[in-house]
Amino acid sequence: MRKTFKYRLYPTATQVELLRMQLSEACRLYNAALQERRDAYRTHKKSLNYYDQANQLKDIRNSGDLSLPNYHCAQDVLKRIDKAFKAFFLRIKRGQKPGFPRFKSSRRYDSITFPSHGDGNKLLEKHLRVQGVGDIQIKLHRPVDGDIKTVTVKREGHQWYVCFSVKCEPKPLPVLNNEVGLDVGLESFAVLSNGETISNPRWYRDAEAKLRRAQRRVARRKKGSHRRRKAVALLQKIHTRIYRLRNEFQHKQSFKLIRDFGTIAIEDLNVKGLAGGMLSKSVQDVGWASFFSKIAYKAESAGRNLIKVNPSGTSQTCICGATVRKLLSDREHVCIECGLAAPRDFVSAQVILQRARISPSNHNVEAVSSCVV
Ligand SMILES: [Zn+2]
Repeated sequence: MRKTFKYRLYPTATQVELLRMQLSEACRLYNAALQERRDAYRTHKKSLNYYDQANQLKDIRNSGDLSLPNYHCAQDVLKRIDKAFKAFFLRIKRGQKPGFPRFKSSRRYDSITFPSHGDGNKLLEKHLRVQGVGDIQIKLHRPVDGDIKTVTVKREGHQWYVCFSVKCEPKPLPVLNNEVGLDVGLESFAVLSNGETISNPRWYRDAEAKLRRAQRRVARRKKGSHRRRKAVALLQKIHTRIYRLRNEFQHKQSFKLIRDFGTIAIEDLNVKGLAGGMLSKSVQDVGWASFFSKIAYKAESAGRNLIKVNPSGTSQTCICGATVRKLLSDREHVCIECGLAAPRDFVSAQVILQRARISPSNHNVEAVSSCVV
């Protein structure tokens, strides 16, 4: 299985300049490749694929038009384009209305990826060697555990990081036979079907307020002005901080769930996007998918059973099966069919668990385990 390790880099001023140049070269290649695909589509109604574009790469480099030092790093840029287009066509197929893949501004093009360790990059004892940049100081706060596959150097605000995608062996935990349903909350972070509540961390309210203030400040200032750019920088800094705190919190909570439960039921976010205007734009909005993906890879490593259920109507259904309509502002669930009165998220968590018990993926698991017995 794959795992990611992220470390802070401390490049010198000269190295920062060289890294920036590589990013902007990668960005230029990205936009040129995107332009080519658009043109091909518009004039010949033909879709280019990755190989059509990668085959030209050698000539482009030989003609001196691309100064990205590592060849495979340039290939990776073309793969990103390919991925963006594949995602675009997939969403069309699903009946959604995606925007056409967009050109990126070099200010927002923030990372380059080396497809393999040792090619254009190398992790040394206290440095990361990057082709065309040199040996950049790295803070290895914990050892890289496993076989390094891809290496991504990225910029976050004014800071630089490296992410190693690593292939590692699963580490199964002792088997547990208990199960839990989890509903991500509006007021609290999440509610479990056993009645436990995971509260929002203390920094959360504070961050919400700061974020709103910073967003308002940006909106007030004139586009293109120096003051606006400063406000944007501050907003970005707040985002980075929230990202870090949220990540840490999610790692802790997902670890606890995996440690304590054998089977975990959650909503399948792919079926119904939360972005459909259901929640207010808050610190949490972008968080659920990344929380669920942390649960997913930890479950895989630990040998836990994760079941994703259809989320439609989980908040409008009672455990007895009756429909109980609720507005977003209704915090209590009261069922006239069976008389159940309980907090709404608690009931949803139980409905999610109920759905998991009858879901086909769960039947498979049962079938397999009964064969073993
Ligand atoms: Zn009921």
